[in-house]
Amino acid sequence: MISFDFSAEQQQFADVLADFSTQELLPHYTRRAASTDFPYDAFKKLAELGVLGIGLPERFGGTGAEDPVLLGLATEVLARGDVNLASAPIQVGLVGSQIAAGSEEVQERYLPPLIAGEETLAIALTEPGSGSDAGALRTTATAVDDGWIVSGEKTAISWAMNASATLVYARTPGTTRSTGVSCFVVPMDADGVSRHHMLGMGCLPIGWGSIHFDDVFIPRTHLIGAEGRGFASVLNHFDFSRAAIGLMCLGAARQSLDEAVGYSLQRETFGRPISDYQGVSFGIAEQATYVEAARLLCYKALWAREVERPHTALASMSKWWPPQVARQAIEVAMRVHGNLGYSADFPHQARYRDVMAYLVAADGSAEIQKKIISGDIYRRGDVGY
Ligand SMILES: Cc1cc2nc3c(=O)[nH]c(=O)nc-3n(C[C@H](O)[C@H](O)[C@H](O)COP(=O)(O)OP(=O)(O)OC[C@H]3O[C@@H](n4cnc5c(N)ncnc54)[C@H](O)[C@@H]3O)c2cc1C
Repeated sequence: MISFDFSAEQQQFADVLADFSTQELLPHYTRRAASTDFPYDAFKKLAELGVLGIGLPERFGGTGAEDPVLLGLATEVLARGDVNLASAPIQVGLVGSQIAAGSEEVQERYLPPLIAGEETLAIALTEPGSGSDAGALRTTATAVDDGWIVSGEKTAISWAMNASATLVYARTPGTTRSTGVSCFVVPMDADGVSRHHMLGMGCLPIGWGSIHFDDVFIPRTHLIGAEGRGFASVLNHFDFSRAAIGLMCLGAARQSLDEAVGYSLQRETFGRPISDYQGVSFGIAEQATYVEAARLLCYKALWAREVERPHTALASMSKWWPPQVARQAIEVAMRVHGNLGYSADFPHQARYRDVMAYLVAADGSAEIQKKIISGDIYRRGDVGY
């Protein structure tokens, strides 16, 4: 009736990425995760492997049609080596799919270097006064001859510190809620743009920061999509990128659990390997069960997107629960490693902090995902999917 197999091409791609992830990313993850330097070299290698073009236009180096399952598979496998770098295809996909709705000029300017791993772009939506309630944003875009003048402040923006440009969401003065919000692409070196680093608990290399727009002129060609419809494209993409985020967190958790299995086989206490104790092995068994269940949920959401079935609630389920499962599994792996699990020389503490970003707020908080799921359930009167 159903198959849990990936296609031969998907599996082949995943195998190549798995080798790269374990041989090239994993050995340096702990060092990279402790630094705020953006890993340009590794980012470029992701591009060479074809990871950054998933679902983006072929004429600019992408794979073409949207490929949700492949995106999820890539992020899951890459996260075993480096959960921060694994977020790159998600970020590039979110940005690139919106740029693809822009003018020919901005597509030609930004899509090739983005897909080639030569430049990064940020997505600036959140403001000091509006996060979950994005429709309350206050940044303005005032129409002038040939374009707009944008003013406002964005905060908690991933990639802010390394981006060459950012998508910014701003409203026509006098409008309220999502009506009147447009999306623009703004070069970070434009007059009136400034950025400031924000230090988070994890995700250090992704360059988290705030961006200020002080009367920044934006030419007409830099409008993305239709005026006043700025949220349409990003919300459409969130509908499956959220499931890829779930898989990314689970990939990191699987790696920690695998490392815990290896460690428990060689670490001895009371004359026996600790894997002999059910206090250890049952904990791993429980977490492996949760990780596998959460993983299947994420792939179901991505599959539903692929076959054009309703998937918004499934994607939200995949965004709130899998990061929680991942955090818990990483914690168990830390404990199996004893004092070494807590050590900064081992990767578990870094994975724990990196995964927390997605549990707390990045790409929408758990509560907002539950708001979306419960809204869908009550609308349909059915909890089954
Ligand atoms: C690591 C990281 C990376 C990020 N990257 C980006 C980025 O690249 N671009 C960007 O624009 N933003 C980014 N964000 C911001 C993120 O999108 C917001 O933090 C998130 O949407 C929550 O908004 P907020 O922080 O203002 O919290 P608030 O919206 O103020 O919420 C505070 C608390 O109230 C809860 N809450 C709010 N409303 C409800 C409700 N109706 N029902 C129940 N509970 C509710 C929330 O769940 C949360 O627990 C990032 C955040 C983090 C942590």
